[in-house]
Amino acid sequence: MAFLWQFSYDISNLSSIRMGTGDLAKYPFLNEAGEYLRDSGFGWEELERPDMKDVIDRAAERVEVEVGGNMYDKLDRYEIEILTFLVSLIMVKSIGMEPVLRKFSLAEARRAEKFLTEDLKRQNEMQKSSLFSKIFDDLFKLKIDAAENGRLFKVRVTDYLSRSSHFHEQEWKLINRLVHGGSVYLDADETVRLVRNELSVLIYEKIKAMTLPTIPQTIKAKADTLRAKLAPRYEYRPTAVTDYPPCVKHALEVMGKGENLPHSARVMLATYMLAIGKPVDEIVMMYENAPDFNEKITRYQVEHLAGMKGSRTKYSVPSCDKLRNENLCFATVECDGIINPIQFGRKRK
Ligand code: SF4
Repeated sequence: MAFLWQFSYDISNLSSIRMGTGDLAKYPFLNEAGEYLRDSGFGWEELERPDMKDVIDRAAERVEVEVGGNMYDKLDRYEIEILTFLVSLIMVKSIGMEPVLRKFSLAEARRAEKFLTEDLKRQNEMQKSSLFSKIFDDLFKLKIDAAENGRLFKVRVTDYLSRSSHFHEQEWKLINRLVHGGSVYLDADETVRLVRNELSVLIYEKIKAMTLPTIPQTIKAKADTLRAKLAPRYEYRPTAVTDYPPCVKHALEVMGKGENLPHSARVMLATYMLAIGKPVDEIVMMYENAPDFNEKITRYQVEHLAGMKGSRTKYSVPSCDKLRNENLCFATVECDGIINPIQFGRKRK
């Protein structure tokens, strides 16, 4: 009998703390979820059973909701949700589209982040230390302790810096944090935010590493339907305008493939498009393939750069020098000594 855990989970060296099915439904990426299915004798063949229809429908819903940039928040039937997660992994693998895989992984990380934050705020000390040990320590080698006041958490400065250096907001700069005795003090939300990217990568790599035996027809049919529905959204559409500077073209290509674009490149793209007079609506939709796309947040950010929100300052397109320093310049001979992307093509005209 082939067991589900054989392809989805690496039964390895996690510590022996037992978790309830409620925890496994919230954190189904833990190897213990695979152990749970193995112990229940749930094998690959069971996926063919007629009563699996509910799980397969839920899994399809989970993939569609999450790829659409929203959070799948059902948690009413623990065992069903553990299975739903596993079937949704099979579907994403079977769909075989990189942007779908990235979006799904990020959305699952956000879902787990929400539960983890709630649990850290609510649980007693013993439950908290079990969570620290199981998730932060085992999965991410991040040592966390509850601070003396029981509300904040302590993270070693080196661990903090290695993760927060990817965040751009001022509040994550070490100078703006409470630091004492070699530790940074964080609240529950901040502590969990620190591992969001790693959670997403963990789920992404789990799916990448899966090798599927023949997929049950019912799951394959659902995956095929989802692929047909999602494919037009991710087809690479080269922009009709060929006059964009190489740095902007590159950013559009990365976006078109559904890959992640660094924050500074996103700013460059938006400020450039604003400068040439593109409407905000059109600019917002240029980001729709980004793995973390959220229309509301993107709109706010574009309007902020346009001077319509927040400080009401309209941001300029970064200079070529600045873009070169950030490795965002892909100059060709046509750039011909310009100092800002906005000048691209003017000489020719
Ligand atoms: S030289 Fe300027 S316009 Fe040309 S690719 Fe580099 S940053 Fe863009």
